[in-house]
Amino acid sequence: MAESDEKTKSKMGRKCPECGGTVFTEDKNRGETVCAKCGLVLKEDFIDRGQEWRAFDAEQASKRARSGAPLTFTKHDKGLTTEIGKGLGELYKVPGKKRAQYYRLKKWHKRLIESKDRNLSFALSELQRIISFLNLPKSVHEKVGRYYEEAVDKGLVRGRSIESVIAALVYAVSRQFDTPRTLDEIAEASGLEKRDIGRTYRYISRQLGIRILPADPKNYVPRFCSMLNLSDKVQAGAIEILRKAKKLQITSGKGPTGVAAAAIYISCVLNGEKRTQREVASVVNVTEVTIRNRYKELVEKLGLEKDVEEKIKED
Ligand SMILES: [Zn+2]
Repeated sequence: MAESDEKTKSKMGRKCPECGGTVFTEDKNRGETVCAKCGLVLKEDFIDRGQEWRAFDAEQASKRARSGAPLTFTKHDKGLTTEIGKGLGELYKVPGKKRAQYYRLKKWHKRLIESKDRNLSFALSELQRIISFLNLPKSVHEKVGRYYEEAVDKGLVRGRSIESVIAALVYAVSRQFDTPRTLDEIAEASGLEKRDIGRTYRYISRQLGIRILPADPKNYVPRFCSMLNLSDKVQAGAIEILRKAKKLQITSGKGPTGVAAAAIYISCVLNGEKRTQREVASVVNVTEVTIRNRYKELVEKLGLEKDVEEKIKED
């Protein structure tokens, strides 16, 4: 992609739903507007393409899920050596697909040893740490591992900190797999500035052809509900509110965490599980003003005013 096809500009009154940035890069070739700060692709002309991309990835993810757990790609030191050390006799007891994985792993392992690549080993332990800190699934862990290896092969990590590349990939992949983590959370887990992660993300994603779109608010609901100690009923209610809101396009372009927070809050009220807007705001890490605004929009446009008022009166 030629740099000359890019144009950076601010759009009056427009804010990135992810980081609040107000400067955007327009990529004429791809027909995209991208936040210059965090790299989020704002849906523009290519909504369809974006969905295809997501569907493709979801399909891959489910395929992977069906084919069973892969060999321990991500545990590269002890785990992997143990697996590999089993020898050929052991290996032929496993199905062909896994055998192919074994050879891939073995090749990879050999290369690792040969190159004495301490960076890779450091990167993978950093990855392990962040994955467990953020409680992300194994599928995300492995995909980041693969992307990281690709980044190393293409020489993309040179001149950048390993931590920032790992953080940027975790940010992107967690979203691809519908288990999004916010830029704030990634920053906390990695100890890096949001801006650094965003910058690295922008570079790496361009080189590897990764795109991230705004997260679907419903993908935040289960996690936020469990952080707030809420029942399954509240969770289901919040997801239902979001489903209706999406259908009516009430929330497009709004920060997904704020929308999720407001839906959870409304569901709390309707189900009689009291949480204050402040409690929800602090767990989700958005301002109370944001929750209040999203709350008003949702309640009004979904026609929930009466229900909400009655519930509040009951208390
Ligand atoms: Zn942004």
